[in-house]
Amino acid sequence: MSLSANNPDRISWLHVDKNSDFPIQNIPFGVFLTRDDIVTIGTRIGDTAIDLGALHQLGYFEGIPLTDDIFLQDTLNDFIADGRKTWRLVRDRIAEIFDSENESLKNDKKNKERVLFRLDEIEMQLPVQVGDYTDFYSSIEHATNVGTMFRDPDNALLPNWLHIPVGYHGRSSSIIPSGIPVHRPQGQTLPAGATEPVFGPSKLVDFELEMAFITTDANDLGESIPVEEAEQYIFGLVLFNDWSARDIQKWEYVPLGPFLAKSFASSISPWIVTLDALEPYRTESPKPLKKQLPYLQQKGKKSFDINLEVAIQPKKAKETVVSRSNFKYMYWSMSQQLAHHTVNGCPINSGDMMGSGTISGTAKDSYGSMLEITWRGEQPVTMSDGTERKFINDYDTVIMRGHCEKNGTRIGFGKVETQLLPVFETKKKR
Ligand code: MN
Repeated sequence: MSLSANNPDRISWLHVDKNSDFPIQNIPFGVFLTRDDIVTIGTRIGDTAIDLGALHQLGYFEGIPLTDDIFLQDTLNDFIADGRKTWRLVRDRIAEIFDSENESLKNDKKNKERVLFRLDEIEMQLPVQVGDYTDFYSSIEHATNVGTMFRDPDNALLPNWLHIPVGYHGRSSSIIPSGIPVHRPQGQTLPAGATEPVFGPSKLVDFELEMAFITTDANDLGESIPVEEAEQYIFGLVLFNDWSARDIQKWEYVPLGPFLAKSFASSISPWIVTLDALEPYRTESPKPLKKQLPYLQQKGKKSFDINLEVAIQPKKAKETVVSRSNFKYMYWSMSQQLAHHTVNGCPINSGDMMGSGTISGTAKDSYGSMLEITWRGEQPVTMSDGTERKFINDYDTVIMRGHCEKNGTRIGFGKVETQLLPVFETKKKR
């Protein structure tokens, strides 16, 4: 099936800045509140948001099997459940409607007013209702760095790591869109040298630079998804900041893995960029260091060349970029993650979200967390205002960006931007 929406020669009649993450070749999906306080599913070209609910009511999706209210919903779950064939038809149609050679909507002033919004007229929402959220641990550099710091430098990578895409089940209730602030969590920690834990605000709040993919309904209970078929169940990706409290994590994580250190918040970028839009940016995964079991063996290019960066912006200063990484560093691919996740027959549903795990490269300036960048706080980084950071301070904003670029076409994710606030003050009862 061709992906005509990806045609690199197409230009839109909507204005697109040269360095925009959202040319007509992107066509991501999101959910937003309009200026009239109506929630709708939409897409974006340049800095114009497009109301797909309104477009559908005007008949622009005629011939595509869609229910009347498919875009008049507050989540993308039902649309995603319609499957890849429908996503492709809709994305291709949107590309046609906004092609510079198509004058139908372009010359219809009244309909354009219904369909098009400036970004300052809308408020982005969570794009899906996340039923289940799983976080993997698939960057070999990250796993090695953390193993070195938390356990044993000589055996940093546990023996299972090269055989299993290691993961754990997270909480979906605290997944939030870009722009929603996060409070510093409280919890139990074991101070250095102490034998008894103390309770209080985490002193080591950190980000994790990740991406997350969103699935459609994939399998029934008991059924597994072969690695070579896995991609057809992946709708798209978002940037993912998996907030972590390192001091809480260190005390609680043995033997069952992360718990409250991770579940207080995870922030995502609001536009889901489809796997189809990322097609031109495929690349090889790193070569396996050990032979993988047959159900995990993959052929071809299953990774994507996505440039990632993290910046920290103190309250009254300019942002400072602290990391530049790339999605292609992932040792285990999304296909392998999904094949492994379902190999025991666990069902995957529309709107499930799978975090990649922190994406670190080999160089210090490509590490995906402050834990690694400052090596547990031993080597602080300097901000633009001269202050130093070991971890994240109250009122700092963490900004993650991601984009692909090849032959002059750039497809990006925009950003996920989150401010860290002090501990939540519970209102005292009078
Ligand atoms: Mn994580």
